[in-house]
Amino acid sequence: VTPEFELIRRFFTRPARKAVLGVGHDCARLAPPEGMHCAISTDMLVAGRHFAEDADPQSLGWKSLAVNLSDLAAAGADPAYALLAIALPGVDVAWLEGFSTGFFSMAERYGVELVGGDTTRGPLTISVTVIGHVPAGLALCRAGARPGDDAWLSGQTGDAALALEHGAGRVQLSAQDLAACRLRLDRPQPRVELGRRLRGHASSAIDVSDGLAADLGHIAEASGVSFDIAADVLPRSAALRACPDAQLALQCLAAGGDDYELAFTAAPERRTEIDALGRELDLPLTRIGTAVRGRGAVTLRDAAGTPVILARAGFDHFA
Ligand code: ADP
Ligand code: MG
Repeated sequence: VTPEFELIRRFFTRPARKAVLGVGHDCARLAPPEGMHCAISTDMLVAGRHFAEDADPQSLGWKSLAVNLSDLAAAGADPAYALLAIALPGVDVAWLEGFSTGFFSMAERYGVELVGGDTTRGPLTISVTVIGHVPAGLALCRAGARPGDDAWLSGQTGDAALALEHGAGRVQLSAQDLAACRLRLDRPQPRVELGRRLRGHASSAIDVSDGLAADLGHIAEASGVSFDIAADVLPRSAALRACPDAQLALQCLAAGGDDYELAFTAAPERRTEIDALGRELDLPLTRIGTAVRGRGAVTLRDAAGTPVILARAGFDHFA
């Protein structure tokens, strides 16, 4: 057995339980459950771009799967399978052990089976593909918001960006706030349960990865509406509330990215059930604004209704 296949066997092979055929062949084979559609998504993490070269491998393993599960959550899909394509600068056993521990802890939490991938030498790059199942006709997507719908947000945004601002020396966080923000950055919690429970209730959904305003903009464009968002209603963590630079705090909150919360819309008649769902999941669900007639605009307003101008709406790799 060559080192490449020994590496795959040791770090990336677990027994297939759901898959008809798992790792070790040219193709995995999956049998989608009756009446289900497959939801599929890929996200790539590149060293030096999405994470530092020396980032903790266990967190990376966790996050590389978590950010993909976040996309399945936005579709309302139940996670089922993953594929992992990874380029490694060399064989570093301690790194691989950490990475696969983090990856499989996230995988086990959501019953995800790793059924294949590709392993090659190269600049550290991690590309994960996930496959989930959603009852035919019930999947959520970015289209479907209608004027008059409420805009909702799960959890809180801004902490991951605040951790990066601290790292860049633009703000000084207390040790406690920094630890909380770093946890949000390194160990995002995909809102899988929320997504699946929003099937049939939400009119549209997206996961917030590039910044709240930018991602709401994607719903707005796909749905053919605009959004009015109340800046003072956006839920803030203790760290963001303690941030002395109000402008920077708002920038993180509304445009920071790396949040992996769900933003979604629903008709106002759904308020009671969505509030109840938030309590049941022990996850704050906040009504942050309204979909209005328009063509893709997202307007953030202060308490007096005056539009708030952001330096930028979100993260763009090519901007
Ligand atoms: P092929 O060359 O036929 O595409 P490979 O030699 O790349 O196959 O891979 C051998 C087997 O190992 C395949 O089943 C593939 O899906 C799996 N595999 C390779 N790398 C990974 C990885 N990082 N994680 C999970 N499975 C992997
Ligand atoms: Mg082959």
